[in-house]
Amino acid sequence: MAGKPPRVGVLALQGDVREHVNVLESLGAEAVRIRRPDELRTVDGLIIPGGESSVIDKLARSFGMAEPVRAAIADGLPVYGTCAGLIMLADSIADGIEGQQSFGGLDVVVRRNAFGAQVESFETDLDVPELGDPPVHAVFIRAPLVESVGPAARALASLADGRVVAVAQGNVLGTAFHPEVTGETRFHERLLEMVRARLN
Ligand code: GLN
Repeated sequence: MAGKPPRVGVLALQGDVREHVNVLESLGAEAVRIRRPDELRTVDGLIIPGGESSVIDKLARSFGMAEPVRAAIADGLPVYGTCAGLIMLADSIADGIEGQQSFGGLDVVVRRNAFGAQVESFETDLDVPELGDPPVHAVFIRAPLVESVGPAARALASLADGRVVAVAQGNVLGTAFHPEVTGETRFHERLLEMVRARLN
């Protein structure tokens, strides 16, 4: 990698922060845990981890992070959200808790806990055409689903029955599953490509 390593934040209010830090470091990026607006200003990209979106939302608002993250996304900061992170990036949430808000950035409706109590977690191999071979081994943990994709966003991957589980829009990327727990690095690499493209 030429020049300085890209500096990428992981929103560290709640969730699987360490797993994302590990993937970023394995790819040669500098990974920084972000909790405050002044820390956000120092990074060239951001990851919103998996966890519990209603908790991330509440903490983001009480830490004064919701508006700065929204503004950064609107300004084109490359951002990747997994699972709860995808929910936080959806313009609209179905089945949120009362008053639950998102940062937005993806013109989609995302349904929380869409797979219900009977199948809260499962794994499957997903074909992601933009990433090529091999398929992505995707782990879904109380995962959301992209219920509808608006004109500004595009679907990157769907389950065999057609339900959308990965989306992109401009510099924003979201997956309902957790590549950070299976050694899958291609989504994080995609984020780093967006970061480098924006810095150049
Ligand atoms: N069910 C969680 C939520 O509503 C998401 C689960 C996850 O991130 N693995 O935010």
